[in-house]
Amino acid sequence: MNKSIQICTNCVMDSHDDKLITFDSKGVCCHCQKYFKEEPLFVFKGKEGELKLAETIEKNKRRW
Ligand SMILES: [Zn+2]
Repeated sequence: MNKSIQICTNCVMDSHDDKLITFDSKGVCCHCQKYFKEEPLFVFKGKEGELKLAETIEKNKRRW
């Protein structure tokens, strides 16, 4: 049996390791698609990222 294996064009995850993986028309896997969709909600870049990090550090300092 020679089943072809598809590899994500973004992260190199393949259909051999993850049997439930799906790919879009550009060959990007469902895990990357989920990340790209949720990235703006959880990943803060540049000045906004620095401010969020400083806030988180201060918040956690107060907890201890
Ligand atoms: Zn991927």
